Amino acid sequence: MKRLLGLIQHLNRKRLSLQGKPFFEAFRFLIIYLIIGIVWIMWSDHWLAAIVDDYSAFIKMQTYKGWFYVITSGLLFFIILKSRLTLLKVLSDRLIHQATYDPLTQLPNRNKLSQMIDQMISYKNPEDNFALICMDFDDFSNVNELLGYHIGDQLIASIADRIKPLISEDDIMGRDSDGFLFLMDMKIYPDNQLINFLEEIKKCVNQSWNIENQILFMTCTMGVARYPINGDNFADLYKAANAAIHQLKEKGKNDYHFFTPSFHLQRLERVTMMNELRKSIDNRDLNLVFQPIYQMIENKIIGFEALIRWKSPTFGQVSPSIFIEYSENTGLIHLIDEFVFESVIKLSKEWSQNELKDIIISLNLSAKGLANAQLMSKVQSLVHQYQIDTSHIQIEVTETALIANFDVAIENLRFLGDLGFSIALDDFGSGYSSLTYLRTLPIDILKIDRTFTKNIGQDDKQDMILEAIINLADELDLKLVIEGIENVEQRDFLLKNKCLYGQGYFFGYPMELKNVYTLVINDFKEANSKNKSDML
Ligand code: C2E
Ligand code: MG
Ligand code: MG
Repeated sequence: MKRLLGLIQHLNRKRLSLQGKPFFEAFRFLIIYLIIGIVWIMWSDHWLAAIVDDYSAFIKMQTYKGWFYVITSGLLFFIILKSRLTLLKVLSDRLIHQATYDPLTQLPNRNKLSQMIDQMISYKNPEDNFALICMDFDDFSNVNELLGYHIGDQLIASIADRIKPLISEDDIMGRDSDGFLFLMDMKIYPDNQLINFLEEIKKCVNQSWNIENQILFMTCTMGVARYPINGDNFADLYKAANAAIHQLKEKGKNDYHFFTPSFHLQRLERVTMMNELRKSIDNRDLNLVFQPIYQMIENKIIGFEALIRWKSPTFGQVSPSIFIEYSENTGLIHLIDEFVFESVIKLSKEWSQNELKDIIISLNLSAKGLANAQLMSKVQSLVHQYQIDTSHIQIEVTETALIANFDVAIENLRFLGDLGFSIALDDFGSGYSSLTYLRTLPIDILKIDRTFTKNIGQDDKQDMILEAIINLADELDLKLVIEGIENVEQRDFLLKNKCLYGQGYFFGYPMELKNVYTLVINDFKEANSKNKSDML
């Protein structure tokens, strides 16, 4: 019987794998049934006569023969039907699972979550509330593009595994395109606990990830929408949570933001802002401020980073992270890059002829600027026009700028390097960063993002990562500058770990040009008097 069942299941599977023509399949069954029936009708009496000699017993057995046929064929059909239906159920369950669950993480996908939420809302009391959190990995497409989708997939799966234990039974975690979704019950999570949860997720993602020997750092941005105030169905809540992500990404990344409905107003403000920026560029109303970079052992200024500043007539002082990003989308960035290069080259020429001749100026080049051939030739002609010593100018680019157009970016970095500029990789450790791939870049300096500095002494794992980066930079012969040093503890930790260069509010805020002169001259005087007293 077991073998028969096995055979039937095997045949069933074979048939299903033919992706069946149901009519012919059923027709085949019918023919087999008819043949067996006909054979039975024609031959069963002969077989019975061969077994039973006695006539009265023969007549008796004939009635049983009919029953035997009905029961056996019924049983056979029951077995066939049951095994076929079981198989169909397994296949349809598998299909439903594939359509509603993410195969990588086994988490419900957005479709499933949307069904669950809409169903949940239909049972909810209006006073119940919950939060939908959309989490998006920062610059995740870079991982896929640079390292391949298989690494991206493994990374997502590893992060999901580390986050899963943070989710309680009453909450739901789901998978969305470049991140995850969380549904949190607000009865259990009043706002402050929700914030704790968001912090935990952030901390969990901000670790180092070792995928196939590639050490990766990830950050994420989360948007929160609340039911019922931000929407009373999944579609509206999802839109609101994603809008919150965009609201945040305009200011920075690696954080969370609760949806605020004024966002659409902000779009209008953006258009006004760009119009005003265009006018300011035409009128040369932008200016640069300078933040000192220190050699920390001797507490000596070695250079300044030029940071752009703009005061809009309507919005007042606007952060460069905001207007630089806006202007990247409008093409205004080319004018800004040109302005920065021209100002810094002129200034470097001026400094080369006074007391600041050994001081380096570092400038920030935008992602679009790095891919712009016109800007490259403009820079080349400025270098020739002003006859400057380019080794006193540092150009800072971010990883995102490299990845946006990798081959062109590398070619242009080499071009700038050949002109004599030194190249710094800025904000290393924010968004996506890869240690392995550092070896291949034509850079001289690595600037570690302030998100790392912020956690010094508070998070052992991050301290270890920082130490690993310091060692690697040393091994690769890269000059290391740590950004965002705000207190003496951070400075001391870095000094202990043999970091030579640092920048941050602890050493000095960005300042106007006139203060640069005073600061450097005082620094020289202090150094001189220290030297003298050392000699005495
Ligand atoms: P960045 O190049 O990483 O510049 C460092 C930013 O960190 C500056 O912000 C600086 O004021 C701030 N900072 C320095 N020390 C500390 C500290 O100890 N603590 C904290 N919390 N912050 C510190 P800023 O001037 O707002 O510039 C933001 C970003 O805008 C820059 O980041 C850079 O990416 C971009 N940017 C600034 N100027 C220019 C420019 O001229 N051209 C381009 N393309 N981008 C620029
Ligand atoms: Mg910079
Ligand atoms: Mg930076």
